[in-house]
Amino acid sequence: MSDTSATTAPPAPNYRKAAFFTSASKFSQCPPDEGWEVAFAGRSNAGKSSAINSLTGNSKLARTSRTPGRTQLINFFELSASQRLVDLPGYGYAKVPVSVKREWTKQLENYLQKRECLRGLILLMDVRHPMQPFDQQMLNWALEASMPVHILLTKADKLKKGPAGSSLLGVRKQLKPHGELVTVQLFSALKHTGHEEVFKVLNAWLTDASVYEDQEVAAAEEKNPAAS
Ligand code: GDP
Repeated sequence: MSDTSATTAPPAPNYRKAAFFTSASKFSQCPPDEGWEVAFAGRSNAGKSSAINSLTGNSKLARTSRTPGRTQLINFFELSASQRLVDLPGYGYAKVPVSVKREWTKQLENYLQKRECLRGLILLMDVRHPMQPFDQQMLNWALEASMPVHILLTKADKLKKGPAGSSLLGVRKQLKPHGELVTVQLFSALKHTGHEEVFKVLNAWLTDASVYEDQEVAAAEEKNPAAS
């Protein structure tokens, strides 16, 4: 009989229970690749820490405005025994040496493409200048791995309704070729807007058992190719 414990999806988590779990400075130091993970990524200053803090109702969970040039870490926050939020490091400060940037790029690529328990990527971009080269790179890696991406156009309160809507439509238009795999919304940590929309996406990803089902099907087909 097969072990079904890993295939039973957990209920939607209580985001207010998010607590720091561990840090990794390399892909190889990540916790065991099991359960359900959603990662947050964005260029420095995109508003990633503010968004994580605002969504979890914990103003101290992710540090805001990190010191430029300091060692970057992948931070894991536990929501339940099998569900985690992951804060991926962003960079963009000139002070970071090229060699450090290159190494981080490699680690991010590894994480996005090889992490089996990663269900989706929340990609944060400042609503005033979205789709920068870093964003395109993250998007490409996720899409290569057929991973869903949900984009938050952050600091929406900095624009009036009209220009914010135009930015949203512009990004949506660019992403049209990717169909339902990439979605986008406006978000403001400051004004606390857009949160319900994000929770809907997070809940769907963090309670989805289909990835395990796919893996089980593939494993079964491998064992018994004549049956497929
Ligand atoms: P990170 O580097 O991506 O983690 O960005 P932070 O969360 O540290 O935010 C960078 C700067 O943008 C800080 O000064 C924040 O106060 C500001 N910020 C973040 N989110 C918002 C927002 O929704 N509205 C406004 N007006 N400012 C924000």
